[in-house]
Amino acid sequence: MYVIIACPKCKSSVQIIDDIRAKNTKCQQCGAILPRKRLKKLYETADLNKAIEARGRIQFEMDTNSEISPNILKKYLTDPRPGHSKKKDIKSIIIQVIDKNGGTMIISNLKNELKKYDFSENQVESTLDRMLEVGEIYCPRVGWVGLI
Ligand SMILES: [Zn+2]
Repeated sequence: MYVIIACPKCKSSVQIIDDIRAKNTKCQQCGAILPRKRLKKLYETADLNKAIEARGRIQFEMDTNSEISPNILKKYLTDPRPGHSKKKDIKSIIIQVIDKNGGTMIISNLKNELKKYDFSENQVESTLDRMLEVGEIYCPRVGWVGLI
């Protein structure tokens, strides 16, 4: 997840932090050590391009108005969470792909197919786990999945 923060010390630097677990970050402008916990998240997204765009807009706002207009933040903060829609998509794509394959499929082939849609093996695996748990798919034999 990419998080956008502004340095509370110099109030002139907007930064993208890409590791949510990092304890501290350093302001690239004034060099202040910023404790992550106390930083206000201005915007967060899983999409780096969106983060870069939002950072640019927020930086521009700060440079011209020396404060962040609530409207700008609202625009970015009300964006739909990309994680949500992606989860839905991956599931329906998995079902489509298995269906096209005749209703059952070797998991490694399924992972390869899903790469075309930019889903990682881990994403496919965790989605399959969840689908197996709730009984949306089943395991006809080791390494295979099938539609119910
Ligand atoms: Zn600073």
